Order: sequence, then C-alpha cells, then structure tokens
Amino acid sequence: MTNPRLATVWLDGCSGCHMSFLDMDERLLELGQRAELVYSPLVDRKDYPDGVDVCLVEGAVSSDEDLAKIRMIRERTRILVSFGDCAVTSNVPGMRNPIGPLPLLERAYLENATDNQQLPSQVVPKLLPAALAVHRVVKVDLFLPGCPPSADLIYHTLKELLEGRMPDTAHIARFGA
Ligand code: SF4
Repeated sequence: MTNPRLATVWLDGCSGCHMSFLDMDERLLELGQRAELVYSPLVDRKDYPDGVDVCLVEGAVSSDEDLAKIRMIRERTRILVSFGDCAVTSNVPGMRNPIGPLPLLERAYLENATDNQQLPSQVVPKLLPAALAVHRVVKVDLFLPGCPPSADLIYHTLKELLEGRMPDTAHIARFGA
C-alpha cells in the first residue's frame, strides 16, 4: 500500500505557519515515514500534482494568482485544511480590507518609495478587492486555528488524517495554539 500524499501551500501568509510545521522537529521524520510530501515550499517541486490526499493551506486568498491556485488545488485534493488564522479568518492580510487595495498599493509603491515610484503593472499579482478566508472561495474540510497553530496541534491533526480519521474539535481545543 502506498503512503498518503501530503502537500502544504503558502498563499498570503507570513510563513510563520510553515515555521511551526518545522517546529515538529523529530516528529517530521515519523511523518515522513507515513506520508509522501508531494508539494510544499519545503520541497523543490514546481507543479501541484493530481491526487493529493491532504493539503495544509497557509494564508488568505488575496490576489488573482491565489484565487486561481486555490481553485486548482481544491480540484486536486481530497482533504483541504485551512492552516492558521490567515487561512481561517483572513487575519493579518484582512487588515487591508476596510481601505481596499488602491490606497495600500499607493502607500507601498508611491508614498514610501524613494526610487522608481510607480504602481506595479507586471510581475506583482493583481490584488483582489479584499483578502479572503479560504472557505470563502472553496470548500474547506478542516480548520486549524492559531497564529500560528502549535506544532503539537499540527502533528496530532496530521497523524489523525494520515491514519484515515477526521480529527474532532476536542483535540483542537487540547492542542490549540
Ligand atoms: Fe503568519 Fe499568523 Fe498568518 Fe500563520 S496565521 S501566516 S503565523 S500571520
């Protein structure tokens, strides 16, 4: 029997949730025996594959690029997990929502720039009108709150999922951030 296929994805987040993932320390070796990490910022694979069993999604959906990516990921993933408060509620990226994207871009690229003051027209993905929690865009199967979720919570969640069980909310309260 082949191991379950695991992925982790980084949308509009600070990478702190992935740092907490790494904080599982030696338990990463154990998880590595139980699952195949097929896509992640932590591995050198460029394309999200088909047939992913479990995917942890860090960050809010903030740009056209995020939106296209999370829709594609949803189609290719069996269990999608909102990983951390930015994915669960939009959290820090959502702080820009009351003012909209234009004042934010003007602040960053015009008011605070000393050279080459201009709004980006290429390379930088186009911002959505608001940064959205992942479940506002696609179906989410499990929510892992915390900023970031603790390493214990991540470990116990993955352990359950990789053994074919859906964790209940009691364990989230027990191992919460
Ligand atoms: Fe960073 Fe917190 Fe957002 Fe995770 S939930 S990406 S740690 S700000």
